[in-house]
Amino acid sequence: HAKNAGRNTFCFYTEDMNAQTLEALNLERDLQHALENNELRLHYQPQLDLESSKVIGVEALLRWQHPTHGNMSPAVFIPIAEERGLINDIGNWVLETACRQSVSWQEQGLPPLRMAVNISALQLHHVDFYEKVATILAATGMNPEMLELELTESAVMQHEESALVLMQQLKALGLHLAIDDFGTGYSSLSYLKRFPFDKLKIDRSFIKDLPLDTEDGAITQAIIGVGRSLKHKVIAEGVETLEQQNYLRDEGCDQMQGFYFSRPLPPEELVELLEQNSGD
Ligand code: C2E
Ligand code: MG
Ligand code: MG
Ligand code: MG
Repeated sequence: HAKNAGRNTFCFYTEDMNAQTLEALNLERDLQHALENNELRLHYQPQLDLESSKVIGVEALLRWQHPTHGNMSPAVFIPIAEERGLINDIGNWVLETACRQSVSWQEQGLPPLRMAVNISALQLHHVDFYEKVATILAATGMNPEMLELELTESAVMQHEESALVLMQQLKALGLHLAIDDFGTGYSSLSYLKRFPFDKLKIDRSFIKDLPLDTEDGAITQAIIGVGRSLKHKVIAEGVETLEQQNYLRDEGCDQMQGFYFSRPLPPEELVELLEQNSGD
C-alpha cells in the first residue's frame, strides 16, 4: 500500500510501516475531519503536447497538509480512505472541485485545458458513480468533453463486465477516459480493444531511466506503437529531463507530464505559469 509513499513528499513514513501502524495514528479520523473542514486541496500538473509544446491539460492531484505530520502523500492516505469507506466522499469532493476550477478558469478566459481526475477502483465501482458524475457535470456546468477520468488497469479488470458498461455510459456523456500507470498492471492487451479508452499514460517507472535504459526504451516504444495503432493518445508521466522529453518526442509520443516542465501547482501558480508561457 504505502509502497510509493514519501518518494516525492515530505513525509515520515517508511516502506515497512503497515496499515495497522498507520491506523494507529488516527489518520482516518484526521482525514474525515480534513474533508469536513475543507482542508483538502487540489494541485494541478500541466500536460504538454509534445509537438506544439503547448499546455493542453492538467491532472488534478490531491493534497493534504496534516496538522501535525505535515504534507502527506496521497499514495499513503488514499488507500486508508479506501479501506475506511471515505473514498467516495473524498472522490466526489475532488471531482466537483476540479470541475468548478475548470469552469472558473474558462470564465477567466484561460485557454481550454482538459481536466484529468484520478478515480479510485472503489469509487468507480460504487453504485452511484455514474449518477454522481452526471450530477456534478450539471451542477458545475463543466463541459464533459473537457473532463478526463484516469482509471487504472486493475480498477477496470476487477469487475470487467460492469466496468465496461459503466465506461460506455461515461463515454456517452462525452467524457474522456485514460488508463493511468499503464504497463504496471497484470491485464492482457486484449482489454485495450474492448474498453473505450482515449489515452494511455505510460507509467513513470518506464520513463525514469530513459534514454539510457534500452529495455525501458523498448517498452516505451511498444506502448507508443500500440497506442497509435488503436488511435489512443499516449502521454508519458514522470518526465524529469530534457533528454527524456526529446526522446519521447522523437519516438512519436503525443504528450508529456512531469517535473521537467512543472510540478503539480496550486491553482494560482498554475495560472501564472500559463500566463508566462502564452507570451512566446
Ligand atoms: P498518479 O495518478 O500516477 O499521479 C502521478 C504522480 O506522479 C503524482 O504523485 C505526481 O506528483 C507525481 N509526478 C508527476 N511528475 C513527476 C516526475 O517528474 N517525477 C516524479 N518522481 N513524480 C512525478 P502524487 O501527487 O503524490 O500522487 C500519487 C498517486 O496518488 C497518484 O498517482 C494517484 O494514484 C493517487 N492520487 C492523487 N490524487 C488522487 C485523487 O484525487 N484521487 C485518487 N483516487 N487518487 C489520487
Ligand atoms: Mg493519475
Ligand atoms: Mg500515473
Ligand atoms: Mg499511480
